[in-house]
Amino acid sequence: MSAFSAIGEEREIDREEFTPTLEPQATWCPGCGDFGVLKALKQAMPEIGRNPDEVLLVTGIGCSGKLNSYFESYGYHSIHGRSLPISRAAKLANPELEVIAAGGDGDGYGIGGNHFMHTARENHDMTYIVFNNEIFGLTKGQTSPTSPKGHKSKTQPHGSAKDPVRPLSLALTSGASYIARTAAVNPNQAKEILVEAMQHDGFAHVDFLTQCPTWNKDARQYVPYTDINEADEYEHDPTDRDAAAAMASEAEQALYEGEVLTGRFYVDSDRPSYSEEKQAIGEMPEEPLAERYFDD
Ligand code: SF4
Repeated sequence: MSAFSAIGEEREIDREEFTPTLEPQATWCPGCGDFGVLKALKQAMPEIGRNPDEVLLVTGIGCSGKLNSYFESYGYHSIHGRSLPISRAAKLANPELEVIAAGGDGDGYGIGGNHFMHTARENHDMTYIVFNNEIFGLTKGQTSPTSPKGHKSKTQPHGSAKDPVRPLSLALTSGASYIARTAAVNPNQAKEILVEAMQHDGFAHVDFLTQCPTWNKDARQYVPYTDINEADEYEHDPTDRDAAAAMASEAEQALYEGEVLTGRFYVDSDRPSYSEEKQAIGEMPEEPLAERYFDD
């Protein structure tokens, strides 16, 4: 790792500190939307004032899991769908860490769907970035939970007979306290949303639309998109839960009809995080759990 400053020390942080000094051992295809996530994340880090050694990035299995190879921080490349419980444990043990979990739509909404629902329900304080390219990319383009109905792939050559998962609505009904959608083609909005998500106290879910030009050639490139917080035709109030439910439902339907609605769908800054709830009922100490088990 590069020469980091002491944790908590105030200084100017450069995004390039999050570029590994070792050549990445992993490779993303040219044109992959995952590069957009990486760029936005590196741009967001200086704004939240975190050094690489204050950040833990936990990934699942998939092309998205290679993010650890491109991003300088503490990292944990976990197993399929399990980035969230590992992230939860790390955050509970060391609340001072900035914990980011990342995975694909297959990893997060399929194999790890149970963890997604319950991590949102319990409002664990972390950011969850889901690279949503509507297919399983690493394993060569199989149908995923967000593939549109009728999508043809090697696993479903006659087209998917299933309606896709609606991740924004699922996050909201499960209890996530920050919900946003952005796209790799929109790095400025993506950076702003990631900054907000990391600064949010509670479970922040970012559905990050990414293109897979190698295996999902039918996929929309997510342009043009509309920002629901900026466009005149929407006066969306993300603090209104009912409005968020309606907006999420509209965006999820629109996505499969060729209109891409992005932005902040829901923000609840008042809901206590899991740790705060536990501390309030005396089940969890104020000091970090890690201090009980490790010396300096
Ligand atoms: Fe990206 Fe698709 Fe290549 Fe994976 S297979 S790196 S998702 S373009």
